[in-house]
Amino acid sequence: MVGQEQDKKVRRKIIVIGAGIGGLSSALKLAHAGHDVHVIDAASGPGGKMRTHPGSTGPIDIGPTVLTLLPVFERLFRSVGEDINDHVKLAREPILARHWWPDGTMLDLHENFEASHAEIQNVFGVAIGKEFEKFYHDTRALFECFDLPVMQNARPNLRQMMSAVFKKPQLIPKMRPFSTLESSLSSYFKDPRLQQLFGRYASYIGGAPQTTPALLSLIWQAEAKGVWTIKGGMNQLARAIEKLCIARGAEFTYNKAVVELRRSRDEIDTVVLENGSLIYADAVIFNGDPRAMPMGKLGNDVRHIAQNTNSEKRSLSAYVWGFDARIDAANLAHHNVFFADRPNSEFDAIQKGEMPTDPTIYICAQDRGINKPTPDVDRLEIILNAPPLSKRAPKPEDFDRCKAITFDRLQRFGLTFQRELCREHLTMPEDFARLFPASDGSLYGQSPEGMMATLKRPQCVTQIKNLFLVGGGIHPGAGVPMAALCGQLAVEEMTRRQILT
Ligand SMILES: Cc1cc2nc3c(=O)[nH]c(=O)nc-3n(C[C@H](O)[C@H](O)[C@H](O)COP(=O)(O)OP(=O)(O)OC[C@H]3O[C@@H](n4cnc5c(N)ncnc54)[C@H](O)[C@@H]3O)c2cc1C
Repeated sequence: MVGQEQDKKVRRKIIVIGAGIGGLSSALKLAHAGHDVHVIDAASGPGGKMRTHPGSTGPIDIGPTVLTLLPVFERLFRSVGEDINDHVKLAREPILARHWWPDGTMLDLHENFEASHAEIQNVFGVAIGKEFEKFYHDTRALFECFDLPVMQNARPNLRQMMSAVFKKPQLIPKMRPFSTLESSLSSYFKDPRLQQLFGRYASYIGGAPQTTPALLSLIWQAEAKGVWTIKGGMNQLARAIEKLCIARGAEFTYNKAVVELRRSRDEIDTVVLENGSLIYADAVIFNGDPRAMPMGKLGNDVRHIAQNTNSEKRSLSAYVWGFDARIDAANLAHHNVFFADRPNSEFDAIQKGEMPTDPTIYICAQDRGINKPTPDVDRLEIILNAPPLSKRAPKPEDFDRCKAITFDRLQRFGLTFQRELCREHLTMPEDFARLFPASDGSLYGQSPEGMMATLKRPQCVTQIKNLFLVGGGIHPGAGVPMAALCGQLAVEEMTRRQILT
């Protein structure tokens, strides 16, 4: 009895706002530690951007499709005494992505260096194989250098970054501190097609190769380390984590938006829901776009939080198709990239606030992969980059234009779909802006432009000691593994700051 009373004394009531991967990762660790966790989300289920659309052969992914950096998730599950493989069925994809150019060139990148190198030599020649070898090893060295001191650090600063670099001064020329990714790639690769291929990775964090710093060439290493698929789609990961949270006593409330955080003295003590309900909290973790705070969407008491993010440029948005259809032609892999005619011209259009007319198009054919029979009906997600709402206001003709641009272009690659498509099959920037309040339709938080972009992101700790931020808009950045890492780092910070005891 005495033990139980003591347990009660240290049990903290923690409200997690948002069941995106960042919020779920925090909730799982907190529930496992015995805290009273209540996750509240305006959406109807877990996953946030890891969404699905109903299809005739099962749910169709219409959010992330490329699961990378698996050790981040293995660590999360292990930290609560579980093995991820007991909760989701993972498969490592031997082909990272199949790439198609308008001139008929096709290239597969593979799960290991040797196979990708052999394929590049085969398609582009021995000299270009050597260029790839140098690029691969340089980007790998950069990834290893910044992984621990920056990506796995909740609160990196310039001094820590510099000290990581000075321990390996041979990396300084590889960082190309004053170059953009586009110009750095032109010095690695003579062939514009490979510049185009590796430049595309900037869009994984919502940037354009013309403005993203050269250092972020390391992003592609996340994919080079392997890509996994999840049986049933990516949303299964969110559902598996939600289930483990519930098994540890966490409560989930869906279809309710949080509209205000109230402060008493220097701590948040009340969370206000849209229906006026008040919920008491010892600590709050916010998993929405951090820009919601300075924009006043969570009331005046937190308006001063993450102020800087409001004045920073926003990252890319997207047009995202999700549907199932019979496909004519095209030997699709699981991940496919159909390149634009003029490299990077789509980013110039986006910069001008236009819908790109010559886009690079990504297709995830969810049911395809090595050793899988070609399905009769494919579940498909098709993504085109788009400007955020602040750069381009929606127009009534957008759906028809986007449809014509997407499918005319794919037809030129010999790909047609037997399916009539309507508005519900397309998520547009304005839909993202509605689903993710204060995001401006941007999918990756603030823009990765500029050398100091990493250090300009909000961090999980705020000026209010019991309020924490997690997710793709927070350091270490966007993407499912980074948001999951952020959720874990935030709980470590809460522990370090004795918020939980
Ligand atoms: C089309 C697309 C493709 C992508 N592809 C990839 C990919 O292949 N690989 C990859 O790693 N990443 C990819 N990403 C990025 C990745 O999905 C995100 O970075 C990541 O899922 C973000 O997780 P998060 O923790 O920030 O939460 P989010 O997914 O942003 O979820 C936040 C949740 O908070 C809720 N919320 C916000 N405000 C409130 C409020 N006031 N009250 C209640 N609830 C609230 C929202 O409803 C939402 O459910 C992609 C994203 C998109 C959209």
